[in-house]
Amino acid sequence: MSDYILNKDYFIAVIEDLIEMAEEKKEYFIQLDSAIGDGDHGMNLSIGFREVSKNLEEWKSEDINTIFKNAGTALLDKVGGAAGPLYGGFFMKFGLPVKGKDEVTFDEFIEMMESGVAIIEKRGKAVVGDATMVDTLRPAVDAMKKAYHDDGCSPKEAMKIAMEVGAQGSDSTVPLIAKKGRAMRLGERAIGHRDPGSASSAAMLEIFYKHMP
Ligand code: ADP
Ligand code: MG
Repeated sequence: MSDYILNKDYFIAVIEDLIEMAEEKKEYFIQLDSAIGDGDHGMNLSIGFREVSKNLEEWKSEDINTIFKNAGTALLDKVGGAAGPLYGGFFMKFGLPVKGKDEVTFDEFIEMMESGVAIIEKRGKAVVGDATMVDTLRPAVDAMKKAYHDDGCSPKEAMKIAMEVGAQGSDSTVPLIAKKGRAMRLGERAIGHRDPGSASSAAMLEIFYKHMP
């Protein structure tokens, strides 16, 4: 599988779908965040990705890293709250391992995901079990690495496993008391509610899977 390549068209298709998803799932994320937060998660993502959408055409001639850096900067600038800096950071760091490139191998893609998730962990200081987006993203990236490096899965199979493990990670936040973010203040009242960021992260992983050749 060493000749497996993800080109710029793949990453642009992902961004275009993320823009659509932020609109389609807006009410759902608002609903989740209304139960245990301040209800703005859906609005935050919508505002952020609308800003990305406004400028994407202009960015398309840039290399993969620059496109994601611009998208991340847009999220960081336009989105308030926790999700702005966290997802903004994710996209700003996502392309860094492939600076200057227009296509990447699956090993490089794994590095990109690791780089993005690492900045969320660093900024948010959350670990798995705190009931945040990290509960989706960390197990997903670890499972993808294992599937590809150790279990002989193809890139698409490895990404499918990442998507499934991420969805389970989001499910795992339902019975938890949140240890980070606004939901933390609720204590036991957060039990029984899905963390909104874990749900948006799971939706993002689905998109990375869906467009993968
Ligand atoms: P805010 O919490 O400021 O209203 P959002 O509602 O847009 O921002 O995003 C909330 C989501 O951000 C949470 O559901 C959680 O997944 C994530 N989150 C909040 N704080 C942290 C943190 N310290 N580390 C990781 N993720 C976090
Ligand atoms: Mg909120």
